[in-house]
Amino acid sequence: MDFLIPFGPTRLQRLLDAPTQRAGIDLYLKRDDEIHPEISGNKWRKLKFSLLEIQKSGYESLITFGGARSNHLYAAAAAGKALGIKTFGVIRGDEFAEKDTETLHFCRAQGMTLLPVSRELYRQKEDPNFLQNFTVDFGKYLLLPEGGTTALALPGVREVVDETEKQLGFSADAYTVAAGTGGTAAGLLSAPTSRVLAFSALKGGDFLFGDILKWINEPTAAQRLTLRTDYHFGGYARHTPELIRFMSEFEQRHSVLLEHVYTGKMLYGVYDLMRKNFFTPGSTIVAIHTGGLQGRSHENKN
Ligand SMILES: *Cc1c(COP(=O)(O)O)cnc(C)c1O
Repeated sequence: MDFLIPFGPTRLQRLLDAPTQRAGIDLYLKRDDEIHPEISGNKWRKLKFSLLEIQKSGYESLITFGGARSNHLYAAAAAGKALGIKTFGVIRGDEFAEKDTETLHFCRAQGMTLLPVSRELYRQKEDPNFLQNFTVDFGKYLLLPEGGTTALALPGVREVVDETEKQLGFSADAYTVAAGTGGTAAGLLSAPTSRVLAFSALKGGDFLFGDILKWINEPTAAQRLTLRTDYHFGGYARHTPELIRFMSEFEQRHSVLLEHVYTGKMLYGVYDLMRKNFFTPGSTIVAIHTGGLQGRSHENKN
């Protein structure tokens, strides 16, 4: 499983510009977008230990769940192919039996069997008998929930903190990260002293605070977590001209690509908070580039 062999730490890129100088902080971008072209960023981190478990315990297949533009499905399909196991993707929305998105097209090309279901049925996916809705032989399978957040996802993400501390030679004052299910934020928070500033990628994301903390059985975790829910730009995958303008300026200035669903919103939030003197001068902030660049589609559609 070559792609899981440690490749050395991902780059820690210093972001030097007028806003960071004015705020008096050292801002870094942890380039997890460079981990793997198809199993990108936090999805690679979250899948790592599940994939090792699949290998070790001889699972024949991986079953997982997602929307038709899910970065997790995309990563799971590519990982299954690399591992040589079968993959099954339960897709939210039976209309996708007839049409593919770019993500679904990719998943199919990796050999994933797509199982589109109605939104109503999809809502029952946590039901223990859910898989009996399909007349499919899944073999000996490992099941990963939507977004890929399981207890095995945490240690994989925690390696981001360990790597960064080695690279810096000290502990960062905070890690900033975009949150969809909050699993990545939980993984960062699972390092014993890390501080995490999470930005909800969805509207009404207050539930994420509890969802993140439920993974961490450690009394100081609640004080080490800050959740911002005010940088959703209208909701999940929505965007505004202001966000897109910020992203293209940032991309040019730092030669980094962002996408508008997660990393663009998170960095917009970081820069906005810098301007509002949210960060203590002299602090070191590490923003996680969680990848997802295959979902970078705002150029050609809304
Ligand atoms: C999936 C994803 C996230 C959200 O991760 P969670 O662990 O679900 O919070 C953030 N950034 C990118 C690029 C993603 O693909």
